[in-house]
Amino acid sequence: WTSETIAVVTGANRGIGFEIAHQLALHGLTVILTSRETAVGEEAAKVLQEGGLNVVFHQLDIVDPPSIESFVEWVKENYGGIDILVNNAGVNFNGGSDNSVEYAEKVIGTNYFGTKNIIKAMIPLLRPSDAGARIVNVSSRLGRLNGRRNRIENLELRKKLEDDESLSEELIDETVNTFLEQVKDGTWQDGGWPHVFTDYSLSKLAVNAYTRVMARIFSDRPEGQKIYINCYCPGWVKTAMTGWAGHVSPEEGADTAVWLALLPDQFVSGKFFSERREIHF
Ligand code: NDP
Repeated sequence: WTSETIAVVTGANRGIGFEIAHQLALHGLTVILTSRETAVGEEAAKVLQEGGLNVVFHQLDIVDPPSIESFVEWVKENYGGIDILVNNAGVNFNGGSDNSVEYAEKVIGTNYFGTKNIIKAMIPLLRPSDAGARIVNVSSRLGRLNGRRNRIENLELRKKLEDDESLSEELIDETVNTFLEQVKDGTWQDGGWPHVFTDYSLSKLAVNAYTRVMARIFSDRPEGQKIYINCYCPGWVKTAMTGWAGHVSPEEGADTAVWLALLPDQFVSGKFFSERREIHF
């Protein structure tokens, strides 16, 4: 990897995203550290630049279309394209399990629809190469389809999401939108949704499922124009999101993302990982 290799990390002003940007830059890549807040993003980039790393900042809010548009234009003008995209930006408001309308919309809107926005916007900018372009989605075990204690209880829906034949972007959208409608009309408690951190778990389940959908679509691309997409769970990490209560450091939490982004020539795609090992969806 050289400074010609360009990686974009979303939500990289702090936490796991900052560490992913840091570690990718330590590998010699040029890292575009993005953040929705310009001042904090510039500050974070400065820390890495002062350590001699090749890091540049650009504003990017993954739920703000004008922000995404100007980011895309800026990347095109300055770099022509990118090689690696790490979708790390995410939110979680559940201290308990209150899925208020406001929080549920923000969580699903950011973690799932926001991640999708960026993937769609960046696909045309992913450069052809023999190693293949890479997309890594930071997800969570809470979004497992078959978690023993935290899963979608509606067996028919679970089977449809599990089966590659019936899984589609439309099915995922329909699933999260059904949940959001139930949150609005106050019936979500009886909806058979994951019961721990419901909106958050469902948002990550959707990210995982979307990873599988996109891997299937990308698999048709000709050699030299491949895009490999995977997702992973960083563990329970000491960041603002967990109130610094996790048992994994942000450095360790970032490790599998960096490993997946830089995998030499095992061209895996559409898989879910934790601690550099494949795990079940
Ligand atoms: P932090 O809250 O520290 O970081 C989240 C980052 O996402 C912040 O930089 C935040 O920006 C950014 N962000 C939120 N919304 C947007 C948006 N609309 N546009 C751009 N950036 C946005 O948490 P973590 O570092 O722990 O979380 C990183 C990822 O890891 C998330 O996807 C999270 O779900 C996932 N994860 C974390 C776990 C953990 O134990 N910590 C466990 C499993 C998964 P800002 O500073 O402006 O708020």
